[in-house]
Amino acid sequence: SQELLQQSEKLKLVGELAAGIAHEIRNPLTSLKGFVQLFGYDKQQGQAEYIHIMLSEIDRINDIVGELLLLAKPNKSDFARKNLCSILHDVITLLQPQANMDNIRILNYCEGGSIPVYCVENKLKQVCLNVLKNAMEAMPEGGNISVFCTEEEGRVKIRFQDEGCGIPQEYLPKVGQVFFTTKEKGTGLGTMISYSIVDNHKGEMRFASEVGKGTTVDIFLPLASPAARETVQ
Ligand code: ADP
Ligand code: MG
Repeated sequence: SQELLQQSEKLKLVGELAAGIAHEIRNPLTSLKGFVQLFGYDKQQGQAEYIHIMLSEIDRINDIVGELLLLAKPNKSDFARKNLCSILHDVITLLQPQANMDNIRILNYCEGGSIPVYCVENKLKQVCLNVLKNAMEAMPEGGNISVFCTEEEGRVKIRFQDEGCGIPQEYLPKVGQVFFTTKEKGTGLGTMISYSIVDNHKGEMRFASEVGKGTTVDIFLPLASPAARETVQ
């Protein structure tokens, strides 16, 4: 409806604004961190703890700023035809060491496949990273994460299935809202940013979850056929 459209336009504007501000904050933050570190080398007894806290708080601001930067809308020229299976391979490889430490097996059912999507590679990688990280964080005791890629009705479906804690029904609508988190050290930005990136790709993202059983995240993207390519551009 008209109202929904306006809502989505508003979100885009706010996203652009947030990304712009994040960009401006990054430089002063870097110099701040440098000087705090410098103090750290010259620390007196009793100050070490404060400097440690300052550095970890600066890192936290840095993380948030880094996430907000991802809200910047990509240019049309940033889009290219890429193999989704290679993108997933790269992201899973990146997470493998952490997964091993956490007793998590990532079963990649699209390894070696070839599915063309028209995308901004780094942003799509970020989406997969956000979703997989959430899956891992939902399984403190370990378990399996399965990743599937299929073509359905001219679209690509990426499915991430975990065996984690699940999301209570009443929380489902909140997942993806700015700053909604159930984690002590969460930012509550990852899913919001994933939604925004998937939206920029003319795609769609869906959650299904059962408490105690696990969560399934489906991401639909247009297939990079010549026709789909035109709609993306
Ligand atoms: P964060 O990870 O910083 O909390 P996100 O936006 O990535 O922020 O996720 C928001 C919330 O959604 C999480 O805190 C968690 O409660 C819930 N969530 C997202 N993905 C999953 C998942 N795979 N399993 C369980 N809960 C999830
Ligand atoms: Mg997250």
